[in-house]
Amino acid sequence: MKTLEIDNLLEFDKEHIWHPYTSMKEPLPVYLVESACGAVLKLESGEELIDGMSSWWCVIHGYNNPRLNRALKAQVDKMSHVMFGGITHKPAIELSKKLIKMAPMGLEKVFFADSGSVSVEVAIKMALQYSIASGRVRRNKIATISGGYHGDTWHAMSVCDPVGGMHSLYSGRLPIQYFVPRPSIGFGEEWCSDDFLPMIDLLENHHEELAAVIVEPIVQGAGGMWMYHPQYLKELSLLCKRYDVLLIVDEIATGFGRTGKMFASEWSGVVPDIMCVGKAITGGYMSFAATLATAKVADVISSGEPSVIMHGPTFMANPLACAVANESLLMLDESSPLPRIAEIEAIMLEELDKAKECANVKNVRVLGAIGVLETYSPVDMARCQEEFVKRGVWVRPFGRLIYIMPQYIITDDQLVKLCRALVDVANIDSVFQCSHEVR
Ligand SMILES: *Cc1c(COP(=O)(O)O)cnc(C)c1O
Repeated sequence: MKTLEIDNLLEFDKEHIWHPYTSMKEPLPVYLVESACGAVLKLESGEELIDGMSSWWCVIHGYNNPRLNRALKAQVDKMSHVMFGGITHKPAIELSKKLIKMAPMGLEKVFFADSGSVSVEVAIKMALQYSIASGRVRRNKIATISGGYHGDTWHAMSVCDPVGGMHSLYSGRLPIQYFVPRPSIGFGEEWCSDDFLPMIDLLENHHEELAAVIVEPIVQGAGGMWMYHPQYLKELSLLCKRYDVLLIVDEIATGFGRTGKMFASEWSGVVPDIMCVGKAITGGYMSFAATLATAKVADVISSGEPSVIMHGPTFMANPLACAVANESLLMLDESSPLPRIAEIEAIMLEELDKAKECANVKNVRVLGAIGVLETYSPVDMARCQEEFVKRGVWVRPFGRLIYIMPQYIITDDQLVKLCRALVDVANIDSVFQCSHEVR
């Protein structure tokens, strides 16, 4: 595409289109993508970028994957959508079967939602309806650990990090939930039970007000890219059982192999009462998610008032989304991604380790196909992205976090190039907002 045409499109975009978390007045620059294939994004300007973001965790089998394309096209020729009220279809039934088989044992009731945030809303509704149906109406609050991220809709937002999230902006309007400090002991560090005391304290004192505890298992994603000790989740599961408080795990970012297990809850051997999945479920083809619950949760909700789950989106169980999800999960089943994820982890460990010598980098963390450089100062996003694009990679950092979660199909060479770009850019002082003194 000609430079003039690109400029015109970008000019219109800047004038009229909101991007995530941006100003309409002074938006950050955006890059015009023409197409994407495998682990590569192709810009209209002709540049090719190795993708380090998997389009926010969701593309795992590569862009423009022939099998996913075929599954989607075949479904289009049958039906793109039908309502789910009073109607069902094979793609939804097959997908439910696959999810139940893959998920931690006991999660066997499936609710299909249109996005991750909606699946979190549904999970919270389930928990609240569980309280109501079991005659414990005072149990109407949710507890969580700070540093979390559960989506941008209302109740999902109420359990996001109280400082980094949107609590201050909407203070007085969001439902007030209970927070304890995030686990301080990292994955791979030595467990110390003190880390869990604040949660014990909270449940001891407030369990009669709690419908559920919600957490991202093992890896807190968009709230801070923090990886915590599996024992924490194990203890949490036991504690929730003791006080008969439901445990919701939000596997939207961590599910389908990302942390090196099919679901991150498996690191702790935990079966939650309710689990949300999304993002990678369609291989990153379209927005889709599901909330899985145990038979007990479904039973209690269905036995009390109003006996039905009060949710039913227009595009519930959309057949196109189900069809592409079926193919995506079939691919995971046919050849487990876990060995490849272990290789990706090994390469990232070796390559990102070099960032430890970099004066701007405070901490390096790698788990599964997630690699994180925590820096001392927040990045200057526009500057940082410019440097990455110059190096032929696509990375979108935030705050003090420069991180990658590559697709499982990335080649070793592509991954090495990506990691080296990360270390390179972290060494450039001018990509950070403040100078070193502020440390
Ligand atoms: C992305 C994300 C969500 C929200 O999903 P959307 O599809 O963006 O609504 C919820 N929880 C976690 C852990 C996420 O990473």
